[in-house]
Amino acid sequence: MILLIYFIIIIGLSCLTPMSLSEKCLDYLSPLNGETKIVDCPMVSSNDKRQTQPTLDNMFAVDFSCLIDDSVLCDKVEKVFVTAGKFITATLNLKAVVSVDAQFLNFCTTYGYCDKGKTTLGSAGPARLLPYQGPTDDKVRLYPQALYKQMNLPEHPQFKKNEILAMFNSNVSYWFEGDPLPMPKRRVDILYVVVHELIHGLGFSTAWNNNVGEALIPLIGPSFTTPTSTPEGFPVAANGQFLESIFDKYIILLPSGKPLTSITDELNKFPINMEMQETEFINSFIASPQFPFSQEVYKSAITQGAMSFRLTKDDDFILETSIVPFAQGSSIAHADLQTYLSTSDFLMMFTYPPRSTLGQMMSKAGSANTTGPIGPKLRLLFEILGYEVKKDYVPPVILSSYKDDGNDSFSIISNISFNLTLFLICILLTFNYNSYI
Ligand SMILES: [Zn+2]
Repeated sequence: MILLIYFIIIIGLSCLTPMSLSEKCLDYLSPLNGETKIVDCPMVSSNDKRQTQPTLDNMFAVDFSCLIDDSVLCDKVEKVFVTAGKFITATLNLKAVVSVDAQFLNFCTTYGYCDKGKTTLGSAGPARLLPYQGPTDDKVRLYPQALYKQMNLPEHPQFKKNEILAMFNSNVSYWFEGDPLPMPKRRVDILYVVVHELIHGLGFSTAWNNNVGEALIPLIGPSFTTPTSTPEGFPVAANGQFLESIFDKYIILLPSGKPLTSITDELNKFPINMEMQETEFINSFIASPQFPFSQEVYKSAITQGAMSFRLTKDDDFILETSIVPFAQGSSIAHADLQTYLSTSDFLMMFTYPPRSTLGQMMSKAGSANTTGPIGPKLRLLFEILGYEVKKDYVPPVILSSYKDDGNDSFSIISNISFNLTLFLICILLTFNYNSYI
């Protein structure tokens, strides 16, 4: 992938107006290729006059673009977003509307994603990431706009129109609630996919990527800690820094328990000049004393059970680190398949469990009426990120299920391992060293 085009560093004004935290954000251009760019987002007063009025049972507003020539299917898919919004609203006490830019289109004819052995179902992520210095330490991290909005601050960096960008592949045989059960083997419950993808958009996403070979680094953005001008008013060369997402703050390496954020601190000893060409950056980074830290993270990211999201001092949410080599979009930002397949925290596995509908998965885990699609660990994770989680869960819709023939988790795991057919590829963020526009 060609990542670097050129740098345009705007420093002309910065000597007069030192850059504050709020002036730069990171926009995510397409959820499929992970392309991002740094944009201006000046501080504005909170004045959200968007017309979309939420309903109490659904705080999601969807700008739906159906790019296929089948209005019946388009209508059915659009309705699924309403149900998905209700399921999440039944769990999270959202204070502000979450607006989703959702597209339904053929990934094969549009993007050439036609591999019959691997089907990409969907992809989603936050539309904008905003820098924010949380209360517990002095680090600036990237917050998804959906989360930032929940804080209802009187002033905030300018928001983008939508909080979440999502795409769903129309080149898949979908199953809809009300269709016969058991669901045929090659079908996919679209509600499952939509709920899963929206969860990524709310902030289940990492800034770590592998654009420097077998090593991982977080996103690179403008430095929020070094001034852009000297006390005398001379501009300082464009400093960059490695930036984590708020999700990354809570990742630890196992078994050591070492916080990933401590490695970000080590990496940030490497001076980043945003005017540097990408190859120049990579070569100097590989030769630096910081590079072994990046390799250490990569090693953990391809070792099953070696990374988790720390929920409490005694409770971890094991992340997906069994994919070798590292798979951008699938590794880290998912729940470990082997651990959670048969539990109520199944939702964020990176691959779709064959023959299972969302209702079926909840029914098998016994969570249809207790936590719904968002299991107890995922609920806690949301709370830690900063969302308010409702105490009680009342299912907004009763989904159908059936008594199956005793498919155990092992047969599903072997099915997935040997026949990787349905990917919930959720490419979120990639290297954006270039696009300082
Ligand atoms: Zn995913």
